Amino acid sequence: MAFESLSEKLQNIFKSLRGKGKLSEADVKAALKEVRMALLEADVNFKVVKKFVADIQERAVGTEVLESLTPAQHVIKIVNEELIKLIGSETKEIIMQPQGEITVIMMAGLQGAGKTTTAAKLAGKLKSKGNTPLLVACDVYRPAAVEQLKINGEKQNIPVFSMGNNLSPVDIAKAALEHAKKNHNNILILDTAGRLHIDEKMMDELADIKKNINVNQTLLVVDAMTGQDAVNVAESFNDKIELDGIIVTKLDGDTRGGAALSIKAVTGKPILYVGMGEKLSDLEVFHPDRMAGRILGMGDILSLIEKAEAEMDADKVKQISRKLQKAEFDFNDFLEQLQQIKKMGDLGGILNMLPGIGGMNLPAGGLQPDEKQFSRVEAIILSMNVKERTDPAVLNPSRKNRIAKGAGVNISEVNRIVKQFEQMKKMMKQFSGMTGGKRKGGGFG
Ligand code: GDP
Repeated sequence: MAFESLSEKLQNIFKSLRGKGKLSEADVKAALKEVRMALLEADVNFKVVKKFVADIQERAVGTEVLESLTPAQHVIKIVNEELIKLIGSETKEIIMQPQGEITVIMMAGLQGAGKTTTAAKLAGKLKSKGNTPLLVACDVYRPAAVEQLKINGEKQNIPVFSMGNNLSPVDIAKAALEHAKKNHNNILILDTAGRLHIDEKMMDELADIKKNINVNQTLLVVDAMTGQDAVNVAESFNDKIELDGIIVTKLDGDTRGGAALSIKAVTGKPILYVGMGEKLSDLEVFHPDRMAGRILGMGDILSLIEKAEAEMDADKVKQISRKLQKAEFDFNDFLEQLQQIKKMGDLGGILNMLPGIGGMNLPAGGLQPDEKQFSRVEAIILSMNVKERTDPAVLNPSRKNRIAKGAGVNISEVNRIVKQFEQMKKMMKQFSGMTGGKRKGGGFG
């Protein structure tokens, strides 16, 4: 699977970071050293790794991050943001010519990279968006490539233009353009000849096509499995024929991910699509943010962190969580916490974010993010006197009765809240006994 081993390593690094709770500068540096190793093992270009880690370090060791509510999550958030930046920031697609004009796409790449397959996949994708593409066989050296293109074109009901192997690719492309005009094809996809290695003659041939035909998009197809070789190939092609975008194939089999992660940083050219399998439908638009999310194994967690930090009063939450950890939690804190939580929607997710609570199982049927329920609990606590709030042990039946009357609820409701509170406190006690030792599960993951 794509990025499998890299993803696993990064997630393990973050898991141990989260397990630490409070982070020191040394913790962050040690974790980043591991991130650096993981990326190098994934065959990411070493210069790219160096800059990537330095950028993260600069942002992550500041007091603001380490003093934050959730330092580990902050570091992970920074890694995620830098990863997105590294692989392309935003989703880019093929730039089409204005309506009525033909968009000419030239596919380039080494033999075996998946160029012919990808040309057909791309044609299928563009057709499904309402275009009328024409596939053009410009590989005059390999009759098998022409045949392959025809078969894959036919499967998708897409016309394939070929003229055998006696004409030059430029002549074929020119004739194809005329054919497209007559047949109302709005896209021309030129499948050019590859070589096993970078070769001057191949480059000259591609440059020649560009000189003679108005090519709108020059796309390079590279094989993810070849790691840094793919990056070097991309650099050479870009120097010689100026690329508009890159398609990284065979990502489905690439557990390391080095090529996909470094190619944008090295060449400056975006990845437009990724090949995820041999089937003609296995071509995906490349979304840097989603890819980063996949690699780091985080769903909507990031937006949840942002939401929590935007809406909660950080000092109050810190204070409460400190009390929770020391098991000094009383009804005043309970009330305070409820008021913080009330501002939020997803109770489970939010509680998970509180340092010290993350990873614990809350009592079943416990606090519900329900307005009415919140108000009732609030009313009950507000009906307690100072002594009762700070020392719930004094709550005998007559006190509970008085509180129930004051809050306008049944005494059973008061009993339930007191029980819930005690359960929570007991859990906190168990938890504080566990800290310092091994802790199961993290807040996120
Ligand atoms: P070309 O020489 O560059 O035109 O390469 P081909 O299009 O002939 O592809 C070479 C091989 O790679 C074929 O067996 C394809 O099925 C395979 N291939 C292409 N793209 C992908 C992909 O994204 N994933 C996988 N697993 N195989 C692919």
